Amino acid sequence: MRAAVGLALALLLAACDREPLHREEAYVFGTLVEIQTWGVDDQRAHAAIADVFADFQVMHSTWHAWQPGALARVNAGLKSGAWFSAPPSVLPLIERSVRIARASDGLFNPAIGRLIAAWGFHRDDLPTAPPPRADVEALLRARPRMTDIEIDGIRIRSRNPAVQLDLGAIAKGYAVDLGIARLRAAGIENAIVNAGGDLRAIGRKGERAWRIGIRHPRTPGVLAAVEVQGDECVFTSGDYERFFDHDGKHYHHIIDPRTGAPSRGTTSATVIHGDGAEADAAATALLIAGPQDWYRIARQMGIRYAMLVGADGTVYMNPEMAKRVHFETEPPPTVILSAPL
Ligand code: ADP
Ligand code: MG
Repeated sequence: MRAAVGLALALLLAACDREPLHREEAYVFGTLVEIQTWGVDDQRAHAAIADVFADFQVMHSTWHAWQPGALARVNAGLKSGAWFSAPPSVLPLIERSVRIARASDGLFNPAIGRLIAAWGFHRDDLPTAPPPRADVEALLRARPRMTDIEIDGIRIRSRNPAVQLDLGAIAKGYAVDLGIARLRAAGIENAIVNAGGDLRAIGRKGERAWRIGIRHPRTPGVLAAVEVQGDECVFTSGDYERFFDHDGKHYHHIIDPRTGAPSRGTTSATVIHGDGAEADAAATALLIAGPQDWYRIARQMGIRYAMLVGADGTVYMNPEMAKRVHFETEPPPTVILSAPL
């Protein structure tokens, strides 16, 4: 009897001792995606995470910018100028993108797929030189914009044959939202879905909030940490994700639709927001907006927390963001605070 009680106690202690954190990784969307859950047993966590990863693989091919799939079919339809029915897997992203593009003054502009391709970013390996200026000028003159797309129920068409969609600045955010929804449907209330530093976190990590690292845009390691709890997304766009150097100049994968060239002046932009698709698109738009315009664009987009790192390392952010950011570098960077957002 005594032995049985002892054994039961030992088992109980072992169960309490085990960290209720479950963690899995998979390579998808061209990046390492990590999912963590807290407080559910390993078997249930594993089943739910496997579903999310399977969904992500489907989304990856559905929204791929240059491989065959639903988005490629949409792009063929947009080029034709005729009305066609948009696949249900793509239509919500188009609708969201039209609204977000407008709020960003067109800095977030997924209609510039041809420009992004001209810069050589529609392939797995990286380009080695910029495109001829004349090619860029011609694509700029065609002025592809999301407002060129007419939507009538599930039918769409483009008034401008130059519109070609590249959803690279929003798809990951939308996917992370769907991933979290899937975990919640499985009864998981504490989790993080982290797609290469872009993430949505729900609930808590036990007694503590989830602690998130924001990557340093220039040196390996973390620039700052923020804590998130409840339900929030942290998204960062940087000029270090996909790039090439040519004649001593740095060319990256985020194109300023005004110049037709990679944006300049900002090395990274971080946004905290309740919705992943919005956070993702806003991080891209604010990176392009830069130190001069980020505040106005953030206000227009309804962003409450934003942080930019300028080319010289100066950090720009609003006071509410500053309250949440803990710099991990020594010395901490120079900070320029904006008015409240
Ligand atoms: P990442 O996902 O690499 O962290 P972003 O969310 O900023 O960074 O997405 C960058 C991708 O968005 C590019 O690879 C390209 O496919 C697309 N893109 C580039 N410039 C723009 C733009 N001005 N508006 C919308 N999408 C863009
Ligand atoms: Mg983005």
